[in-house]
Amino acid sequence: AFNADVVPQAPEDALFGLMAAYRRDTDPKKVDLGIGAYRDNNAKPWVLPVVKKADELLRKDPDLNHEYLPIAGLAAFTSASQKLILGDESPAILEKRATSVQTISGTGALHLGALFLSKFYHTKEPRTVYFSDPTWPNHFQVFSNVHLPYKTYPYFKKETKALDFDGMISTLEGAEPGSIIVLHACAHNPTGVDPTQDQWKKIADVIREKKHFPFFDTAYQGFASGDLAKDGWAIRYFVEQGFELCIAQSYAKNFGLYGERAGCFHFVTASAADAESTVQRVASQLAILQRSEISNPPAYGARIAATVLNDKELFADWEADLKTMSGRIIDMRKALRSKLEELGTPGTWNHITDQIGMFSYTGLSEKQVLKLREDSHVYMTKNGRISMAGLNTNNVEYFAKAVDKAVR
Ligand code: PMP
Repeated sequence: AFNADVVPQAPEDALFGLMAAYRRDTDPKKVDLGIGAYRDNNAKPWVLPVVKKADELLRKDPDLNHEYLPIAGLAAFTSASQKLILGDESPAILEKRATSVQTISGTGALHLGALFLSKFYHTKEPRTVYFSDPTWPNHFQVFSNVHLPYKTYPYFKKETKALDFDGMISTLEGAEPGSIIVLHACAHNPTGVDPTQDQWKKIADVIREKKHFPFFDTAYQGFASGDLAKDGWAIRYFVEQGFELCIAQSYAKNFGLYGERAGCFHFVTASAADAESTVQRVASQLAILQRSEISNPPAYGARIAATVLNDKELFADWEADLKTMSGRIIDMRKALRSKLEELGTPGTWNHITDQIGMFSYTGLSEKQVLKLREDSHVYMTKNGRISMAGLNTNNVEYFAKAVDKAVR
């Protein structure tokens, strides 16, 4: 019989533990910088105006029902998602070299991809997966749950608070050929540090030389810079270069559809005479995996995204909403940096505006992070990561002063 006594206590999820501590704090000045979701200038969740519009349109539809979606999801959603990330005129789409499955947001896409690779991409031994150090911590669990061994490549240089490009390249060069390399497409979580386009080109060169397999995680397209093409550049470049690769795409941040779990997994094969049949076989296996895991994906978030992505006017509205979110975050970066510089806070603060996306790696030590929590009721993860979305015109000065106090 199963003796449940043997089940050990698992550690609490660090981020969710932080959120609970924040909720317990009764100080009115408290600041939540752990949060991984966009907040407006009043620190409130923001339903994108275009999402409200799409929602109203859907609700008016007398034929809307709650039937199952197909196993691979809503076709209007998956095909629009391909175009969004690969570009309308992508050779991969035109040559029918891409196949896509709707998933449980980005996490589900990562899982489905990891599961697929663990089943079909191995020699005698399973392939090793490489993550950036640091990375979104869930990567470790998602890939090790399907028994893929992992290692890390250097990514963040403490001294410069910027990319450790040489460290990254030399580790990718030394990795066992054919390794799986997980890459954040843009707005790297947790550091906010992205390679430049020239650096991406060199990364692509090494991955090609070593016959590695790139696995892109894209959770912030349009949310980072406000420009969908710019934030999708790295993936489009790799596809243009003829790589076989896969992509885990999330609509949590850029549509604010966090809890609706809208996402997509894409597999792109290299250009070859039999590419179309390869893709069909891949699609057939993904369907089997999907069926056993979730049977079919949730409908509503995908319907909202598809409504917007497939309508010119709504799409333009969405781009404006992306500018609102990314613009507010970029403004907060500028405000925080200039307040810290004004205060003469010890250290350099250019990294705050050099970094991009939801998060910033401040360089604050664990001790300083805990001091900020105790003295100033500011909540952030122990690695010194702050969510820029938690800052607003009402608290950015308070936060800058708290940092100033903690580092002196
Ligand atoms: N990858 C990265 C790097 C992320 O930051 C996130 C969201 N925190 C995800 C994937 C997936 O999120 P979700 O499952 O909510 O789409």
